[in-house]
Amino acid sequence: MSVRPVISRAIRPTPATHARGTRAATNGRATLAVVTEPAAPPFRLASRQLRPEATVVAAGGVTIGAGRLVIIAGPCSVESRQQIRETARRVRAAGAHMLRGGAYKPRTSPYEFQGLGPKALEWLAEAREESGLPIVTEVLSQEDVDRVADCADLIQVGARNMQNYALLRALSTTSKPVLLKRGPSATIEEWLLAAEYLLAGGNPNVVLCERGIRTFASGTRNTLDLAGVALAKELTHLPVIVDPSHGTGLRSLVPAASRAAVAIGADGLLIEVHPRPEQAWSDAAQSINVPTFAKLMVELRAREAAE
Ligand code: PEP
Ligand code: MN
Repeated sequence: MSVRPVISRAIRPTPATHARGTRAATNGRATLAVVTEPAAPPFRLASRQLRPEATVVAAGGVTIGAGRLVIIAGPCSVESRQQIRETARRVRAAGAHMLRGGAYKPRTSPYEFQGLGPKALEWLAEAREESGLPIVTEVLSQEDVDRVADCADLIQVGARNMQNYALLRALSTTSKPVLLKRGPSATIEEWLLAAEYLLAGGNPNVVLCERGIRTFASGTRNTLDLAGVALAKELTHLPVIVDPSHGTGLRSLVPAASRAAVAIGADGLLIEVHPRPEQAWSDAAQSINVPTFAKLMVELRAREAAE
């Protein structure tokens, strides 16, 4: 039985997907131009193929992606004025470069603590004044973008919101840089396309954050996709940092996961640190205390110095 060609005219690469080198395949009835080299990726502004030099993002005076490992530390949630001020002072003394703390919390259950909102933003701003550490905090919805952008030096988009395109569009027009966490079930391509929304809308300052994905492995909260970090670094010029806290869910694993992330090429780490982790209002099991954080900082600095 003869096979009839489905395509009866030549397929030409469009300018946008221009491929160097094509090969003609003929079957006597039709000519098919077969692309033999990969076309430009769909995330063209984020692509390293089209822009080889690394992007350096400046957030509150800290540069991310410039070669130096950037450490962002602080509690999952801002719980009180005293808690965030104490954390800021102590993580700064241990060597952190930026302070994290959630004011608006994306919780799986509506009955869990949802964050202290505007009050927490005020306390974060105060902690920045006192410590000098720039602030990383999450925005959950479009209506809070201006309010959060006023306070944050780096605006976090949480894993659950990675594909909230209305939120991404709103953030694409702010002047503040964005930390885009990878969705728990997002492919690397989907993650980079989410970043593309920010870039295409006019915000060039995007930092990616791997925070673990959903797999069948049940011993850890998520599976930290370190190979995905290396792949993302190959595919994009944007800085990529790692969150070993959500990536493991277990405080005992945070130092090892941090070292592994640095070894595979992460540009920074986002670590949940709490002055009294057992009492944390959210993510207690994965929060490390300040002495553990300080010890990790010493180790990471020694490795960096040895390179
Ligand atoms: C967080 O950083 O506390 C957080 C909620 O992270 P994720 O969106 O990665 O779950
Ligand atoms: Mn958390």
